[in-house]
Order: sequence, then structure tokens, then C-alpha cells
Amino acid sequence: MSSVQERVEELLKQAGEGRAGLKRAASRLDLLPEAERRALREALLDRAGAAEPEAEGDEGELSSKRLLRWALGREDEARRPGNPTHRDEAFACAACGAHVPPGGARVRDHCPACLHGLHVDGEVPGDRAAGCGGALRPTGLERRGEELVLTHTCALCGVVRRVRAHPDDDPAALRALSAASGWRTIR
Ligand SMILES: [Zn+2]
Ligand SMILES: [Zn+2]
Repeated sequence: MSSVQERVEELLKQAGEGRAGLKRAASRLDLLPEAERRALREALLDRAGAAEPEAEGDEGELSSKRLLRWALGREDEARRPGNPTHRDEAFACAACGAHVPPGGARVRDHCPACLHGLHVDGEVPGDRAAGCGGALRPTGLERRGEELVLTHTCALCGVVRRVRAHPDDDPAALRALSAASGWRTIR
């Protein structure tokens, strides 16, 4: 039995072999038992960076095909000025002062204690291209498949972003946010 990482590499290799390869890799992923499928999807998401493309319509989660394409760095190449930068640094939270260590396997893009972020990235996660620097306030919480997704709203410029919750995020803070914002469930 090979490791999740090896299987991800295998899938990506196949997905990289043209349209037919992508289709085969996607159906291979789709046909896996739920727990395995979820573990592989998670690894694919982590591989590609902090933010993910929006799921289409009420699909709930990205299709396997789209997920693979995105992990290959081919998702909407025209729209993206570049690939996400895998940035994961320790920081002192500007909102609550917490000392926040790097996120590890999952990039840290907000404070796990108060869920605030900082508006430093432009269109591409990790690009540090935004000149704003405003506080990204947590303004919403929803469930997407098995994942919690936070909505961030910049207190300075009003930009609205969605980021995945981090495993270290404080459950009490998430509960408070959920109570304040009301659950909006994408499937
Ligand atoms: Zn904080
Ligand atoms: Zn801003």
C-alpha cells in the first residue's frame, strides 16, 4: 500500500497526460472508497496552496477533474496571474496579539485564536501583492463538503475572500462566528 503522497503523485502524473489522462485520473479518484477519496482530495488541496477555486453552482465540492487540474496548476491559467505561493510563516496577530506558529501541512493564512487575517495578498494566495494591509475580519462561516470555510472581509478596503479553516482554529471562535453569521451550508 503506497502512501497518500505517492498516490497523489501518481494521480497527478496521469492527470498531466492530456485530456484522456485527466479524465481517467478523475474517475479513479471518484471510484475510491469515501475515506480514501477524502484523504487524497485533502492532499491535493494542500498541495496547491491556501485558497481554492470556488465550486461551481451548488456542487458543494470541486469535481475531481477540476481539483486535479487545479493541483496541476492549470486551473484558469488565463485568470490567474501566477501560481499560488506556498507561504507559511510565523506571525504575531495584528488583531489579538497571539503569537502564531507556522501552520505546517496546511498553510496558515489567518490567526487560529481570533480568526482574523491581514489583507496582504493580491489575486494569488501568497503573492503579497496587495498594498492594503487592512485587517481581514471573519464575517461568515459555512460548510463545504467536509470542510469549514471562513469568509474574510477587509476592514479597510472591503474586499471579501474565502479561506479554508485551519485544523488549529479555536473551536470556540468558530462556534461564535457560526452563531454570529448563521450557517450557510453548501451541501
Ligand atoms: Zn488573532
Ligand atoms: Zn484590504
